[in-house]
Amino acid sequence: MPIVSLRPLLEASNKYKFAHGGFNVNAISQAEAVIGVHEMFRSAAILQAADLANGFMGGRKDFFNSTLEDKKIGAKRIADAIRKIGENSPIPIVIHLDHGKDFDSVKAAIDSGFSSVMIDGSHLPYEENVELTREVVKYAHARGVSVEGELGVLAGVEDHVFSENSTYTNPMKVCDFFKKTGVDCLAISYGTMHGPSKGKDVKLRKEIAIASMENLKHEGIFGALVSHGSSTVPQYIVEEINQLGGNIQNAFGIDINELRSVIPHGIGKINVDTDIRMAVTRNVREYFINNKDKQNSEAISEIWKLMNDKKEAFDPRYYLTPIMDTLVTGVEPNQDISDISNCIRKGVQEVVGSLIVNFGSVGYASKVEQVSLEQMIERYKKM
Ligand SMILES: [Zn+2]
Repeated sequence: MPIVSLRPLLEASNKYKFAHGGFNVNAISQAEAVIGVHEMFRSAAILQAADLANGFMGGRKDFFNSTLEDKKIGAKRIADAIRKIGENSPIPIVIHLDHGKDFDSVKAAIDSGFSSVMIDGSHLPYEENVELTREVVKYAHARGVSVEGELGVLAGVEDHVFSENSTYTNPMKVCDFFKKTGVDCLAISYGTMHGPSKGKDVKLRKEIAIASMENLKHEGIFGALVSHGSSTVPQYIVEEINQLGGNIQNAFGIDINELRSVIPHGIGKINVDTDIRMAVTRNVREYFINNKDKQNSEAISEIWKLMNDKKEAFDPRYYLTPIMDTLVTGVEPNQDISDISNCIRKGVQEVVGSLIVNFGSVGYASKVEQVSLEQMIERYKKM
């Protein structure tokens, strides 16, 4: 099945009132597993790579210093891999850029084969955000590629995105933003937060979503809302990591019931990254503890060492750098490295599977219209 833009998924989620998960990928095995679980549950899949994650996929261990060239290599690599894995898949698949930071990064992703992009101008003054987003929409829609914007600022850390304080999205401005920019969907700030420490018992300001959607409806404008920073941080996984020698403190996510309660109010896409990292970390720790001889394996002992040097680490991009080649190419040269790759796959299956069920996208793959990017070009012209 061909790669599609995000637009037909958003139309389906708006119509049937469910949400698609947007799942971040930083390794080829992770992409395989995300697609596999979505096939199992007959749900369309959104695989997303953050701007700097493309630097990592480009081979930069110190991905925070990635150049545009690194990102281009990485973006092409992950997009090609997803196309190949999804070639004969029965479900629609979206390759989405998460938190594109400027026009050049977005252009690099589109030129590399991404079918959807986010441009995050939320740190800019309103009019500049509109201007940048409009420029991106023009380039993207002319290629059949969908665009996600952001309005309002989320607190927390996510790759290069860091903000100490949040500013809730003003629903009065949402409609104006859709109208002026032509975006397909918009990330709003309504109480979620990037990173693993969102605080206990976070309540989401769902009235922001309700008011935004109501305004759009009155104006006859199509739009879907996106919930960033929405990991649930399952407490059983945190406990298991700590029982296995890790040290994760004060990690709390958004309660799954709280998330479920906002979905009917126009939240069509929910981004999750931290949960996958946590499950993978638990699996890798468990593997080394259950297979003590592997702690001295030539191929992977360095991973175990890194994990123990930094017990609070849960980002696989930190401790899996000794098998960097496998992460970015998918080639598994020996059994020990395959075992670690399976830890990644199983972590994805556990977390993504349960979220697909909770977000309600099970079985909706067939309700997502199969519109090629070429057909989308024509549709966007008429909008
Ligand atoms: Zn985000």
